[in-house]
Parts: sequence; structure tokens; C-alpha cells
Amino acid sequence: METIYTIPVNDAYGSECECPLCFLKKRCEDQELEYYLGPSLMEPDTRIITNKTGFCPDHMAKLNKKVTNRLGLALVIHTHLLDYDNDISEDLSKAAPEKAGLFKGRSNDYKTALRELADRIDKRTATCPVCDKMNKTTERYNEVIMHMFSHDNEFKQKFISKSHCLPHTASLLRTVASKLSQNDASDFVAALAQNNKECFAELEKDVEWFTLKFDYRNKEKPWGNSKNSIQRAMRFLSSDTGEFNEG
Ligand SMILES: [Zn+2]
Ligand SMILES: [Zn+2]
Repeated sequence: METIYTIPVNDAYGSECECPLCFLKKRCEDQELEYYLGPSLMEPDTRIITNKTGFCPDHMAKLNKKVTNRLGLALVIHTHLLDYDNDISEDLSKAAPEKAGLFKGRSNDYKTALRELADRIDKRTATCPVCDKMNKTTERYNEVIMHMFSHDNEFKQKFISKSHCLPHTASLLRTVASKLSQNDASDFVAALAQNNKECFAELEKDVEWFTLKFDYRNKEKPWGNSKNSIQRAMRFLSSDTGEFNEG
């Protein structure tokens, strides 16, 4: 196993975070954003990629928030606009169907053409080199986690004691299905199921207590772990996007 992957995995499972895969995803995302906002902004080689892809809406917003080199970002956006324009504007201007008249029949072909054009635009909007890198890296981390789970007992105990958000639970299940033998899958999925079960139970209890605190009879009773339970539940349900920090 390459230490380039095992070290961050150990870091994540040793940290205070709620989902180690969210922790790793965030780290990868920060590195990628930094890369695209760093010296690479001015390099034509990088722009060969970003001309085509642009960035997804989420990463477009994050780049805008973090950017210090406005000229670099402007160059990236400019060449992307040119590429996009070249790709779709002509088809868009030909997309209006002919009006159905007295001598011309109605046609449904234009509907298919409009949907195809809409799909192309949606696809371009979603395409993103930051997301691509994050997805590939998560896949690799998943494999490393599974390997360490079956070869490193100390790590296995750490894995058992950690929870994983539901989107990352799904991602782990997919990697199990494609990479593990039935026997290895059995142990790993059992551990994953156990820590999910505990996480559900704890959050249900804490969020319920949060709601009960609104009853005047409970006003003076202690919050326990409930104060940030909504945010923790949202992180569990939808992964940690950095939007659920307790204020
Ligand atoms: Zn997660
Ligand atoms: Zn993205």
C-alpha cells in the first residue's frame, strides 16, 4: 500500500471528525481548489482542460470566494466561454422549430432536438475537474480503507469506532461490491452497518431531545449533546459540505 494514501487515511481515522471520508474529501477539495487558483491559472496547459470542462456550480462558487488572482480566473473563464460558445451557440440558434402553418404539418422531431441540446448544456454545467479528482481520490481511499481493515488490526478497531455519513456509506458499499471477496465483504459491511446503526440511534435521540427542549417543562434541563444535533444530523444525512458549521 502506498503511504501517499495510508498516511492520510490514518490521519482521518485518528482525527476528531465525524466522517473520515468527509475529512479526506475536504482535504482533496482544498488542494484542488488551491491548484486551480495557483500558478496553474496562468498556464495554457491547464486551460486545455478547463476550456472544455469549466467547473460545476458548487466549485465555481468556491473558486470565486477563494480567488486572489482575478486576472488568472478571468483568463480561465474567458477561454471557457469561447469554447462553450463554439460548441453550442450555432445549434441553439438553429433550435427554434418552424411554425406549423396551413401547408406545413406539425412535427415532434424538434422536441427530441431540444431535449438533446438541454442535456448537452446540463452535462457541461456538471462537468468539473475538481469533482473528477475528488471522486477518483475517494474511490482510491475506499480501496485503501478496505485493505487496511483486513490487514491492520489497529486500523480495524479505529474503523469500527468511527461513523460514516450516508453518502460515504453508499460510496463504500459500491467499492465493496466491485473489489471485495464475499468473506471480506461480510466483515467489512457488518462493521459499517454496526456503526451506522449506532449513529442513527444517537442522532435520533439527540435531535428528539432538541425538539423536547422547546417544551417549557424542559427549559431548565441540560442540553446534553443536543445543541448541535441538527447540524450533526445534516452532516450524517448529506455529508460534510462545510455548510453545517455550528454558529
Ligand atoms: Zn462522509
Ligand atoms: Zn465540482
